[in-house]
Amino acid sequence: MSIIRVALDLPLPQLFDYLAPDASTEDIGYRVSVPFGRNERIGIILDWLDASDQPVDKLKSATVILRDMPRLPDTWLRLCEFCSRYYQAPIGEVTSFALPPMLRRGKLPKLPRAKKIKPDKIKPEPISATVLPTVAIDICAEHAPSHRPPLLMAQQEAVRQIIQADTFQTFLLHGVTGSGKTEVYLHAIAAALVRGEQALMLVPEIALTPQLEGRVRTRFPQANLVVANSSVSDAARARGFLEALASTADIVLGTRLAVFTPMPRLRLIIVDEEHDASFKQQDGVRYSARDLAIWRAHQHNCPIVLGSATPSLESFHHANAGRYRLLALPDRAVAEAPPVVRAVDTRREKLQEGLSAALITAIKQRLARGEQSLVFLNRRGYAPVLACAACGWISRCQHCAANMVVHLADKHLRCHHCGGACAIPHACPDCGNIDIHPFGRGTQRVEAALIEQFPNARVLRVDRDSANNPKKWQTLLASIHAGEVDILIGTQMLAKGHDFPKLTLVGAISADTALFAADFRAPERLFSQLMQVGGRSGRANLPGEVLIQTEHPTHPLYQALIDHDYARFAQSQLDERKTAGFPPFTFQAMLRAESPAMGDTVAFLMQAREAAEQVALHIIGHPVTLFDPVPMRLHRLMAQERAQLLVESNNRPALQHFLAAWHPALHALKRHRKVRWHVDVDPLEF
Ligand code: ADP
Ligand code: ZN
Ligand code: ZN
Repeated sequence: MSIIRVALDLPLPQLFDYLAPDASTEDIGYRVSVPFGRNERIGIILDWLDASDQPVDKLKSATVILRDMPRLPDTWLRLCEFCSRYYQAPIGEVTSFALPPMLRRGKLPKLPRAKKIKPDKIKPEPISATVLPTVAIDICAEHAPSHRPPLLMAQQEAVRQIIQADTFQTFLLHGVTGSGKTEVYLHAIAAALVRGEQALMLVPEIALTPQLEGRVRTRFPQANLVVANSSVSDAARARGFLEALASTADIVLGTRLAVFTPMPRLRLIIVDEEHDASFKQQDGVRYSARDLAIWRAHQHNCPIVLGSATPSLESFHHANAGRYRLLALPDRAVAEAPPVVRAVDTRREKLQEGLSAALITAIKQRLARGEQSLVFLNRRGYAPVLACAACGWISRCQHCAANMVVHLADKHLRCHHCGGACAIPHACPDCGNIDIHPFGRGTQRVEAALIEQFPNARVLRVDRDSANNPKKWQTLLASIHAGEVDILIGTQMLAKGHDFPKLTLVGAISADTALFAADFRAPERLFSQLMQVGGRSGRANLPGEVLIQTEHPTHPLYQALIDHDYARFAQSQLDERKTAGFPPFTFQAMLRAESPAMGDTVAFLMQAREAAEQVALHIIGHPVTLFDPVPMRLHRLMAQERAQLLVESNNRPALQHFLAAWHPALHALKRHRKVRWHVDVDPLEF
């Protein structure tokens, strides 16, 4: 008998057997169309068997094996299997998710004639036949006869170590913005291309700008560069995937989803801004692209470079422990000195719409010198809430445990969690009082204040409202670059991966809120945001200045920023986390549930906890700690009442072992039919 075992995109943990008389083990990795229920579905063949453990008369026949696309290689299938196992996601969901949507639907993109890919044809074509030079400088010269300045010593050393690693090794490239990390990546990629190898470069969601793409393209004009992110068209994504699979793509550059690009000649992985939270997917398959990338490097036995100005505490901890090799770029490549960071004590000052006198003066100086300033505030909208002083009414979202944000630009109240919106009421909906006011401050309000304060300056706001599609975003970036802007007001959108030569002042006006947040990762995020946004200033021979308005000027986090001392900050955070028993000293998984009623949600979690107690009894060696179910901080979202249950262990395999046993038990639990749940392994959000 000839049976294929198929992964289908269903929220079920198992594979599905089908009869396929014409199949063989050679078909593993092909897409297949099969009947399921009343429909046809596309799946991927993961195994071939000569017998099924199910009665043969129950088996249906596969409709057709789609051999028109090359088989997905074993390495790719194993990556998906690992992802499924580690993140407790059904294998069929993973394999489906890992494919570009067009291929997922069983289709193929039209290929340009010249590029038509023959099934299973894997032909590595080195870019250049030269013998691998041992020094990076040679490779650089090899590929670019242009007049690029030589690498700094620290850059050279980093490049040397990376290109000499011919087995699995995780490097942590630690260097502030402008220290030349990207140069190091490009040199390492050059070396890989010379050797006829493929390189994969992952970047955070928001940072994938044409700037970086252009830099890679101009550096490697002969290389076939594939860009993979969600704004690439369906057909282009599918094409890129197939080119990588057929080995005709040399470089794959993309956001987290690019980690699933099959690359038979893969020998180098780069994860830029490795600390960035966007590498972790927050819905569906909740994977970390950075962590999967490390697994992949191990699988391909090749080096991986994690780069950051503010490494995640996890990575820093691994580097301290010697598991990762630290490559430090201590100096900026261009500007003479790092920006001067100062805390502006606002305790005894009456701020003008959130702006301190010191910041206003500093902006005036920049205006006089024809330089740019950036005011950083991580809250979009005009004000976080509208309130009635007479009766206490506030603009709550009907569907979420959150306030509706005042958006004056289009005169709406908006919930930033569910997207719900309504017109701004003219009077209090409860008592009719017309004297209702916005409270607090968002980017729109500061924009208005800046315009009033500096009537002759050109003020530009950049946030998810003003740059709500890639095209608008590009237009905004272009006008900043063209020097058509004097003062920028923006959220963290502006912090990542942009190089504004005339920007010499950054003012952070509402950083304190993150200092005392309940989430233990908040300080880590704040530090890296301020460091990153500060790194925007003073890049091109103009000295930069960063002003942080705060009521806690002596706080160690700000003091470490002032001293440019990431290591001190990181070490103090790690000490705190060790004492508190937080990651990276423990490993966590979160079971989250939601339903229209908190009672049903919690009842499910209580049952889950009972099941967990049974399972945990059987985990020997390292204990697994179970916490009580608690409502989530945003306990109502889109009319769903949400709660969570945390599971922890100081041993990763023990936690994995536990989850593997617990997950099937969760599926078997009887629950209210409206309860939905998921498991999040290594959760970032609490
Ligand atoms: P990062 O990725 O760390 O922010 P980049 O690689 O983008 O740093 O480098 C910052 C700027 O410095 C870029 O304009 C780059 O061209 C330049 N640069 C990098 N390395 C050198 C070097 N060795 N000599 C001169 N300029 C350099
Ligand atoms: Zn009222
Ligand atoms: Zn809402």
